[in-house]
Amino acid sequence: MTIRALTSIEALREAEPAITGKRSILSTLQRSLGSLEPSVRRDAGAELQDARRVIEEALEARRGELANAARSQALAADRLELGDVVVQNVRCPVDAGHPSLIASTQRHLEDVFVAMGFRVSEGPEVESDWYNFEALNIPPAHPARGLWDTFYVELGEPETVVLRTHTSPTQIHLMESAVRTNSLPVHAVMPGRCYRRDTPDARHLATFHQIEGLVVDRGITFADLAGVIETFTQAFFGPDISSRLRPGFFPFTEPSAEFEITCTICHGEGCRTCSQTGWIELGGCGMLDPAVLAAVGIDAEVWSGFAFGFGIDRCAQMRHQISDMRALIENDVRFLRQFS
Ligand SMILES: [Zn+2]
Repeated sequence: MTIRALTSIEALREAEPAITGKRSILSTLQRSLGSLEPSVRRDAGAELQDARRVIEEALEARRGELANAARSQALAADRLELGDVVVQNVRCPVDAGHPSLIASTQRHLEDVFVAMGFRVSEGPEVESDWYNFEALNIPPAHPARGLWDTFYVELGEPETVVLRTHTSPTQIHLMESAVRTNSLPVHAVMPGRCYRRDTPDARHLATFHQIEGLVVDRGITFADLAGVIETFTQAFFGPDISSRLRPGFFPFTEPSAEFEITCTICHGEGCRTCSQTGWIELGGCGMLDPAVLAAVGIDAEVWSGFAFGFGIDRCAQMRHQISDMRALIENDVRFLRQFS
């Protein structure tokens, strides 16, 4: 048996008496030294003493190795491995929530337009009559004002203040700023909250959200407008949904068009939602009226452009087939949780 074959402290302790103990061969030999001739006794005694020292050192070294190994083994057994600890049924004590469907739809729309080269711009929700109507070619007696009947705030002469009825006033702010800072052209989209004195029903809300687009540049044509509308439609609603333009009227664009997209419910087949036409109206658009450009001091001989706008709430409604728009603002968590 070799010392190396002893693989535990206990085995070493048990084997030790047989190796160096009183009844071991080594001790027996040392005891028999007295029977030797005096001439060889001394050398034999010294050799046996050396042998005992070597054996005892080897035993001590092996004892150290085995103690270290035992300690490492104990440490390894105590170590926690990934997966050793399983925590079950832990719930966040506070419901973190998520953006509302309107906010997430707005962000998605912004992403689509930013990818097309537009920048995002915001304007005030409280506007003067001039920005909300007159600068957009809607003077006080204009019949179009009837379409935008709104919440007026009387602050006394000379200015009447309104909760903006559309995001179009932001276009005027943007164009004025571009003229002031000599930074034309403009390619921007303007999302935001708007207000009208509507009685809420399945398709109308008194507070709603719009996004408008504005391009003022050299050599812009109606084809550019149609291309932007079609690119946006496919990017937002999917490649099987397309757009078409129909003649329309808006005081601040000429010519004007209403744009429709393939019905997202029947995909063009015809259904009750689209009155069997296969198309759903989404918004309005048109080439900027030279009178609007003139109102902000842009030379219509050099610059031209287009604008478009549509409802963010309407987009969310069509994308998710929501039958009643009032669900968007009622804060019923059973409705909201569907869009987390
Ligand atoms: Zn349909």
